[in-house]
Amino acid sequence: MEISVRSLRKEFDRTPALNGVSLDIQSGELIALLGPSGSGKTTLLRLIAGLEFPTAGSIFFGDEDASHKSVQDRHVGFVFQHYALFKHMSVLDNIGFGLKVRPRGQRPSDAEVRKRAGDLLDLVQLPGLGNRFPHQLSGGQRQRVALARALAIQPQVLLLDEPFGALDAKVRKELRRWLRELHDRTGHTTVFVTHDQEEAMEMSDRVVVMSQGRIEQVGTPDEIYDQPASPFVYAFIGDSSELSVRVDRGAVYLEDAALALVAPDLPDGPARLFLRPHDLTITDDPAGAIAGRVAGVRRQAGARVVELEVGAKGERIEVALPETERGMENGTHMVRPRKWQLYPAA
Ligand code: ADP
Ligand code: MG
Repeated sequence: MEISVRSLRKEFDRTPALNGVSLDIQSGELIALLGPSGSGKTTLLRLIAGLEFPTAGSIFFGDEDASHKSVQDRHVGFVFQHYALFKHMSVLDNIGFGLKVRPRGQRPSDAEVRKRAGDLLDLVQLPGLGNRFPHQLSGGQRQRVALARALAIQPQVLLLDEPFGALDAKVRKELRRWLRELHDRTGHTTVFVTHDQEEAMEMSDRVVVMSQGRIEQVGTPDEIYDQPASPFVYAFIGDSSELSVRVDRGAVYLEDAALALVAPDLPDGPARLFLRPHDLTITDDPAGAIAGRVAGVRRQAGARVVELEVGAKGERIEVALPETERGMENGTHMVRPRKWQLYPAA
């Protein structure tokens, strides 16, 4: 099922939570809505689900304008971060619940419901746990049951709002891979919300980066990482440092020193140079390099990162050191960027 979101606007008490969002989601795609808290991710998901209705704009499911259709008529399944299963119901009864409450005529027989719930239990890889109660399951198992319950109504679209947010890091990582595999097997159109860039980048076909009720960028994980459309996206996606520089006919100056990088497309004037710790190489050659004094060291998974104080303004950049580079943790060093991003100063 393709979903087309057009100039969507949603206000709460006259304050916009979504401020003109347009997005085309392809059939069978797994797409992540990524952004900081309050950026409008949940609001967008709830509008797609039919749990909220737009102030302006529209949502198409295929060729059909679904903007004002009810949840029931949209055939969507959803899972939330704290998706409470019914405590007094067995796992199988939880999974079959959505089918049992169908209107007469669309409701399968009890035997069919049990059969389908059993199949779903296999699909989410919890065979044999059908008679357990929610309190007898781990957090990860409970979210898988919640997913099976969402799938029971055979939705065309699966909507997940931080489904793994409440779980510990190791379980979350396992479930990510598992959900990706499940998605590939079932071929649903899946939209999932996360504020965790690693989760979004690892799992999805495309990422929608949101900020303040707007879309900053839509792209594959590689596009988002390699060609961030704005300083916001650059800074949100990975570790980054920023330096104030000046562009003059394509050359880039840090104070009075020309740097060994070019900016052919940027207008002359002040600019912001963004760097990632892992894209900087330590060098002995001062020509075009960025020099800085070590101001701190921090340990990160798989690397040590030194903070260099650069220039008279005391701006700082972070440089990831290879494990072999010992004895770099004080004094002055020079670095050269292998990759960088430049944006005109606002
Ligand atoms: P996210 O999921 O990215 O954290 P939300 O979509 O939940 O963001 O919220 C976006 C903005 O809309 C926030 O400023 C939030 O306070 C506001 N908001 C969301 N839901 C409501 C509501 N039901 N009533 C009033 N304000 C809301
Ligand atoms: Mg949210």
